[in-house]
Amino acid sequence: MPIDPEDRSAAGPEDAGAPERRLTVLSGPSGVGKSTVVKELRAHHPEVWLSVSVTTRAPRPGETDGVEYFFVGADEFERMVAEGSLLEWAEFAGNRYGTPRAPVEERLRAGVPVLLEIDLQGARQVRESMPDSFHVFLAPPSWEELVRRLTGRGTEAPEVVQRRLDAARVELAAEKEFDATLVNTSVENVRDELLALVLAPKV
Ligand code: ADP
Ligand code: 5GP
Repeated sequence: MPIDPEDRSAAGPEDAGAPERRLTVLSGPSGVGKSTVVKELRAHHPEVWLSVSVTTRAPRPGETDGVEYFFVGADEFERMVAEGSLLEWAEFAGNRYGTPRAPVEERLRAGVPVLLEIDLQGARQVRESMPDSFHVFLAPPSWEELVRRLTGRGTEAPEVVQRRLDAARVELAAEKEFDATLVNTSVENVRDELLALVLAPKV
């Protein structure tokens, strides 16, 4: 998987021997505000490295290949699964999503704090393969507010919104599996709370 040449947090030889930082997994129902919070965090703290996932989903208006996602076809995704080049992957609401393994491992080796924004199925796989990862659940202030945000975003057809809300019920029931819960009432507050968790020393 290509690494963004503009990415200042890329591992370099001078980083060899740096102490390992935490791998933080952020998860939560679709529409709760994960992307908004992560974008806000990265805007203020580019030193936190955010993994860019591969997906078979079509780009939304305004999304750029290599920025929000690497957009790939089903065959390319299959190839990556077969080669073992994904740290985890899952099917979510009709599309496939996965985390390229090598860039994550390189950043952790270089002592860079790493953030993954992935669904519950993926979070469970990372829990298995990297037991010292730290898992954060982003919760909505209420079910009604989650529905409002997901429909208000206006990026999905009504039947896709319904699939995502069905998945959201399952995801909300899994909150207790996580190491911490943050309630997304204020983006700024959650950004600061998440940053503190991401930068905490690896135990
Ligand atoms: P996710 O990445 O979890 O699917 P998004 O970040 O796309 O969710 O957010 C879904 C919608 O909710 C967007 O329209 C976003 O602007 C809005 N949103 C996110 N956080 C908040 C918040 N704290 N208060 C109000 N609206 C929010
Ligand atoms: P969206 O289509 O709204 O961008 O993402 C849908 C869901 O897929 C969200 O819950 C998001 O966190 C999750 N997701 C994004 N990338 C990955 C990934 O690499 N792996 C997994 N398992 N889920 C992902």
